[in-house]
Amino acid sequence: MSSGDYAAQRALNAQAPTIDHLVRRIGGLFRPYRGKLLVTIVLVLLSAAISVIPPLLVQRIFDDGLFPHGGGVNVPVLVTLVVVMVLLYVASGLIGVWQTWLTATIGNNVMGALRVKLFRHLQAMELSFFTHTKTGVIQSRLQNDVGGVANALTNTVSSVIGNTVQVIAALVAMLLLNWQLTIVSVVLMPALVLAQRRVGQVRARIAGQTQESLSDMSAITQETLSVSGILLSKSFNRQRSEIARYADENDNQIRLQVRQAMSGQWFFAMVQVFLSSVPAIVYLVAGWLITGGAHNVTAGTIVAFTTVQARLMFPLIGLMRVALDLQTSGALFARIFEYLDLKPAIADRADAVPVSPAEDECADGERPPRQAIGVAFEGVTFRYPDARPGERATLDDVSFRIEPGRFAAFVGPSGAGKTTVSYLIPRFYEASGGVVRFAGRDVRELRGESLVSHIGIVSQETYLFHASIAENLRYARPGATDAELEAACRAANIHETIARFPDGYETLVGERGYRLSGGEKQRIAIARVLLKDPEVLILDEATSALDSVSERVVQQALDSATSGRTTIAIAHRLSTIVAADVIFVIDGGRLVESGTHLELLARGGVYARLYTQQAELALPSES
Ligand code: ATP
Repeated sequence: MSSGDYAAQRALNAQAPTIDHLVRRIGGLFRPYRGKLLVTIVLVLLSAAISVIPPLLVQRIFDDGLFPHGGGVNVPVLVTLVVVMVLLYVASGLIGVWQTWLTATIGNNVMGALRVKLFRHLQAMELSFFTHTKTGVIQSRLQNDVGGVANALTNTVSSVIGNTVQVIAALVAMLLLNWQLTIVSVVLMPALVLAQRRVGQVRARIAGQTQESLSDMSAITQETLSVSGILLSKSFNRQRSEIARYADENDNQIRLQVRQAMSGQWFFAMVQVFLSSVPAIVYLVAGWLITGGAHNVTAGTIVAFTTVQARLMFPLIGLMRVALDLQTSGALFARIFEYLDLKPAIADRADAVPVSPAEDECADGERPPRQAIGVAFEGVTFRYPDARPGERATLDDVSFRIEPGRFAAFVGPSGAGKTTVSYLIPRFYEASGGVVRFAGRDVRELRGESLVSHIGIVSQETYLFHASIAENLRYARPGATDAELEAACRAANIHETIARFPDGYETLVGERGYRLSGGEKQRIAIARVLLKDPEVLILDEATSALDSVSERVVQQALDSATSGRTTIAIAHRLSTIVAADVIFVIDGGRLVESGTHLELLARGGVYARLYTQQAELALPSES
């Protein structure tokens, strides 16, 4: 098990699903396609029924057409029988094409729906799921696991029904032709079925390991071939070891793939030998029966019997392959359901309400009039989900109130819990104790989507998509006009810079925005939040990564962004927040001081000490 697979870790404690349960769930996926499935079944039955007739015609062709009693070829009978036979083959070919279209449509739709269902479910998972799971591992479940069951989804139904019917039909035809020869042909079948089950179990185990290894490879690729990953590996000269890590996992993958391909091949070779030798045995037994005086064993019967018998071989092998595929896919389905069964730790209550009742009356895409919103913590305690028992709480009994429209700042030493405060407001994490209030309401009573729609976040690390600047900006408001984009960018002090790029707003920002400087990315992020126009703005050390020139430009942008909104700024550089209406000092997860800059300086506590230290450090560089 990969250490980056949160689901697998959580599932360790859960009970393994039974085969019955798995089959019922997979069956449920097909429910929307009942009509098409029914048509498929009818077509399969029809083509199976048709396939029984030609061997019986063979018997008639031989015994009535080619070698009738009394000698001489009976041409009219021969021609009629041959024409009927050809027509039957044409009909079964046409049915085959229709059936393939149906199964491909059903299978691919079921698989596509499963993929979207999984994607939707992952979107609902809480932040801690993503901080605990490697991105590559998640990608692998969506792509490799769902893709891996494609075969089972597209072929299983028609293959199981078609082959079963063909086996039954062939057996019926064989019994009609000669029951003694039929018994000789099927006597060893049960042994094959038992062997097949064992092979299936081995294959399912290998399939699980193969998918696990694929997901590890996907995680390595994602980690090392991303812009940040390659920068890290190049700057530490780790390419060689990364290649070795990838090659090792690749070797493991090759070994597993070969094992998976080979498991069952001996079995199939044995089945093939057995089924191919049966006709020879049939000739032997037929000779023995004829010697014993059996009159019904004619040349036509023997030829027809061996023809049907050869036709038994393909559906039988087909059925065994499907059974194996199903067992293999079962392992993959179990992995997919494992993710689908993870309950999001943070979800809306059934009676959750929007932040403003007017939201429910708005048409899609419209917004209710803006309102000033206040934020408060009442005795909030918080531990990260993976905190060890007995470990100090990250936030311990924190209470504060930020009045609507005010500028509040959080300061304190590194690791004090400032960012954690900002995570609890949009409910990215759930407080372990106490109440987080937004617009006067407990955030747990609010609809998640509504809550987040009133909050804008600008953090130190700006995430931009590999798309144009305009597309990145419209992520905040898809319907924004070009004029609105420009207005937001002017307010964020970035319009002039964008206008100088040869492609202007259509400039591609590169993977994660690497083509832009830190300050430029930061200002685009501010413009993006301005477009969202939230009532509450959270700035998490939005300028701390910048030099003093870009900091000044970004600070101007921020000043225009914060006016008229409730603003919560988390700052290391205290010079950026001296004008705050209220400053909260967090230390070791506790709120230790609060007040204005001057009040806190006068108090001579933690804040005054931090401020003096920074002022002293700043002096030499500024002189
Ligand atoms: P900084 O100023 O350095 O950004 P901060 O005051 O914002 O620090 P937080 O990021 O809130 O501090 O972190 C508070 C504590 O919680 C730290 O000890 C940190 O190690 C821990 N922590 C942060 N994120 C997680 C997480 N996802 N899981 C577990 N612990 C975490």
